[in-house]
Amino acid sequence: MTTILFSHEAALNHVNPPGHPERVARLEAILGALDAPEFSTLLRREAPRAEASEVLRCHPQVHLDRIEALAPERGFVSLDPDTYLSPGSLEAAFRAVGAAGAAVDAVLKGHAANAFVAMRPPGHHAEREKAMGFCLFGNVAIAAKRALDYHGLQRVAVLDFDVHHGNGTQDLLWDEARAFFASSHQMPLYPGSGHPSERGVHGQVMNVPLSPGTGGAEMRAAWEGILDRAREFQPELVLVSAGFDAHRDDPLAGLMWTESDFAWVTGAICDLAEETCAGRVVSCLEGGYDLDALAASVAAHVRVLMERGG
Ligand SMILES: [Zn+2]
Repeated sequence: MTTILFSHEAALNHVNPPGHPERVARLEAILGALDAPEFSTLLRREAPRAEASEVLRCHPQVHLDRIEALAPERGFVSLDPDTYLSPGSLEAAFRAVGAAGAAVDAVLKGHAANAFVAMRPPGHHAEREKAMGFCLFGNVAIAAKRALDYHGLQRVAVLDFDVHHGNGTQDLLWDEARAFFASSHQMPLYPGSGHPSERGVHGQVMNVPLSPGTGGAEMRAAWEGILDRAREFQPELVLVSAGFDAHRDDPLAGLMWTESDFAWVTGAICDLAEETCAGRVVSCLEGGYDLDALAASVAAHVRVLMERGG
C-alpha cells in the first residue's frame, strides 16, 4: 500500500488572465516539488475525464450547459469577477472531477492507502448553480457523492483546511445526512459565509472561523475539535479539501500557518482515518497562492500521506 498522485497536463491548460493568483505556475511548482527523489515511490496516475453524469451528482444540467455554452475558443470569458474560462478550462475541470473520483475508486478498491489529487481549477467554492471563487465544479463534493451513491458507503467525512470557507462544498452537501462537512477558515474573508450557526439540514456541517493572525497553536486546537466531531461520525472514507493559503506567506489571507502545521493537520487527519476507516484518505488540492509556500506545504502534506500510507 502506498500513496497515489493523480494529475494531468490538461490542468496546465486552464488559464486565467495575467495577474490572476490562481495560475498555471501553481501546479508547475507543485509538480516540480513532487519530482524530488524522496517522492520517487509515489504511484502516479493520469486523471481520467469525468462523464457529465459525474458532474450531475451535485450540479443541475443548467449549470453544466451554461459553462459549456460560455467556454471560449480563444481568450477569456468571465463567470464572475474572480472566475474565468479559457479554451482549456472545460477539459481541465472535467479531469479535476475525474481525478477526485478516480482517487476515491483507487483508495476504496485498495489500490493505495491514500491519494493526493494535484489538479486545477479548484472546486470548494462552486455552488449548485454558480461557478465562483476560481471554481467551476465541486470536485470534492462530487467525489463524496460518488463514494456514497456509486460505492455504497454510508458515511463520508469532508474536511476543508483551505483558508477560505468551503461554501460550495457546504451548499452541495447541505442536506446530505451521510456526509459530515467541516471547514476551518479565516473570518472575515471571502466568501463571507462559514459562521458556526451554519450547521446543515441534519446538523452534519461544522464551521470553525479563525481570526486573522491565527497561528499553529490555535489552529491545532481548532482541528482537534473538528476531528473529535469527525470521530463521532465514524466515517468510512475521509476526503480533504487541501488548500494551502492559510500559510503565513500567502498573499490572499492573513493566517500564520507553516509547513509544519500542514504536516501536523495531515497527520491528525490520517489518525482519524486509521481509527475509523483503515486510513482511507483522498486529498484534493484547493488554494495556495505563494508559489514557494505552496510547493513546500504540498511536499509536507504528501510526505505525511506517504509515511502513513506505508
Ligand atoms: Zn482558498
